[in-house]
Amino acid sequence: MTEIIQKSEKKAKLGDMKSKTTTKKTIKSICVFCGSGNGQDPKFKTAARTLGHLFAEHEIELIYGGGDMGLMGTISAAVKEKGGKTTGIIPEFLLKYQNENYETTGLIVTKDMHTRKAKMYDLADAFIALPGGIGTLEELVETMTWAQLGTHQKPIALLNTSNFWQPFLSLIDHMKDESFIRPGLEVNFQVVDEPEQIINELMKRKNELINETL
Ligand code: AMP
Repeated sequence: MTEIIQKSEKKAKLGDMKSKTTTKKTIKSICVFCGSGNGQDPKFKTAARTLGHLFAEHEIELIYGGGDMGLMGTISAAVKEKGGKTTGIIPEFLLKYQNENYETTGLIVTKDMHTRKAKMYDLADAFIALPGGIGTLEELVETMTWAQLGTHQKPIALLNTSNFWQPFLSLIDHMKDESFIRPGLEVNFQVVDEPEQIINELMKRKNELINETL
């Protein structure tokens, strides 16, 4: 009996969370997953910089991994350069890998990677993945898994600069063809080529989600 009551309480809490995330009408913070390196194509860095400037212009807070290297460093510097707000969330053990003049303002230091991801998820109204490596992929895929299972309904977008995400998109198609991604387990995300389009697209998706739940 106790067990049943606890389960239904949990369900109610999840329901509360869903309605909170879907009825909030605007996007005030976006979590960006991106490489701790810059990649080969200079367009990756340019896109990260442009996106950072757009965040500041639209008064959108950047939630990110807290590092100052690669595209992470580029986007956070670009937001700050235009007077925008950033919140970096970094596990304690990664602090030692940052550059000499590492800026520690606007940082939340967590005890481990799991706590970090949970915090990134909590603080963000939407997610964008820029080009990156395994860390970026892992963060993106976990966020997609949570969306697929209904744990959250926050919009997710891929910034497909120079078609970077094509192999991943092909893999998703392959999973659909093989019926691993199947009805009821759809993965909803947007793919956008230019940083200038991405905020509008996320807002559109957010409004669709709100309308779906009204
Ligand atoms: P990757 O795509 O493999 O370069 O990993 C990038 C992601 O992993 C970032 O979004 C961060 O969350 C995390 N990460 C990897 N290296 C670092 C680092 N030196 N400092 C902070 N976060 C990092």
